[in-house]
Amino acid sequence: MVTMRDRKAWLTGGSARCSAPVEPRTHRRRLVLLGAPGVGKGTQAELLADHVGACHLSTGDIFRCAKGAAACELTPALTAAVECMRRGELVPDSTVLALVAERISCLRCEGGFLLDGFPRTVAQAEALEKLLQKHGLQLDAVLSYELPLDQIVARLSGRRTCPNCKAVFHVEARPPKVPGICDHCSCTLYQREDDRPESIRVRMQAYETSTAPLADFYRQRNLLIAVPAEGTPVDIFQRSLRALPSEGRAPRGPK
Ligand code: AMP
Repeated sequence: MVTMRDRKAWLTGGSARCSAPVEPRTHRRRLVLLGAPGVGKGTQAELLADHVGACHLSTGDIFRCAKGAAACELTPALTAAVECMRRGELVPDSTVLALVAERISCLRCEGGFLLDGFPRTVAQAEALEKLLQKHGLQLDAVLSYELPLDQIVARLSGRRTCPNCKAVFHVEARPPKVPGICDHCSCTLYQREDDRPESIRVRMQAYETSTAPLADFYRQRNLLIAVPAEGTPVDIFQRSLRALPSEGRAPRGPK
């Protein structure tokens, strides 16, 4: 079973600290996961995070957490960001970058990190590069999950998420043991608001124009690894592990 960490420092920022600090590893992984919405990145991030001992850092989870918070707890920028998410639009770079910079302790974590949903624009990728350089950190690889559009839509419409621990299931491909109930914390699963058809269309457009160019950005830096996202989550996970560069080695393509 996948061990879920509370990731408090990432989800709420500020002075929040994770309840169980990550154990330092000899070889920590610092990875970015890329891929269109619905390609299965979140599921792979969970599986990979458990395997490599790093935290799954999703910027989308920060906004979903903010959505559940009381209005008085949110800054005006975060309130506007939640509205952007509801419409399926990208949150402005300045807001996202401020949130990530505020969570620098998560990027410096001894356990490494797995970024999911960030960076999402070339401007964010450039800012991340500078932030990591400033702190003497380097990415190991960028895994880019690839899948045809019709399969993406099928995945999104069947996706169910846990509001508490953020675990992701699919009604057919990765059903929970009890229908509608989270395997990890027994909360009732829900369908994300932005997985509705009208939001899916907006998100796919945002992906094509803003996020797809990131593949070139990381290819030029010899960090990009394309991973076919067909098959079961376990198939894709095994493919991801084979594709990861071994310690101190340059990235290589999947088999
Ligand atoms: P995700 O869970 O990664 O699909 O993100 C859900 C939503 O949060 C997106 O559709 C955006 O509205 C917003 N979001 C998450 N990460 C970012 C980001 N790096 N840049 C801009 N918007 C983001």
